[in-house]
Amino acid sequence: MVNVTPCEIGNYGKFRQFFLKCVEVGNIDAVYYEGLHRSTSLGVEVGIKFLEPNIPTHGLSTLVVGIFYVCIGEDMKASHVFQQFAVNHVDLRSDAIFEMGDELESRLSSFHARYLNSHNATFKFPDNDVIKTPRCLYGHDYMVDFEGICKNCRLFWICFNISHML
Ligand SMILES: [Zn+2]
Repeated sequence: MVNVTPCEIGNYGKFRQFFLKCVEVGNIDAVYYEGLHRSTSLGVEVGIKFLEPNIPTHGLSTLVVGIFYVCIGEDMKASHVFQQFAVNHVDLRSDAIFEMGDELESRLSSFHARYLNSHNATFKFPDNDVIKTPRCLYGHDYMVDFEGICKNCRLFWICFNISHML
């Protein structure tokens, strides 16, 4: 399943029927792909609902649901999901999360993300005792250090970039 290209499992793809069978039986990767697919075509709320069974077992699904909650302004739910992600998968400031963000971005773009930035008005990153909005956010010299993104800001920018895709 993992190597199947998105077009082949999309609405008109030749593997669509087989793929939907996998989704039906709860295949964890199939649920992940279909959840992302639905989020770009039907909206992030639909995506969240669909991906829920994968939380917290599947790392990318868990991460993206947290990000989707940020998009729709549910910062407390986002915080909760990010904590589950951190406990079960990788640290929120790690290099690994940077790579997972990349994977989510390229996957969403392959599912025809529309880059509408339609959640601009509701976007709300958590800011509580456990997960804080990084205070250094706009204090960096991005001309020099753009790719180096500081560890504190990493999760924020992943959320920000993905929010712009939807
Ligand atoms: Zn920073």
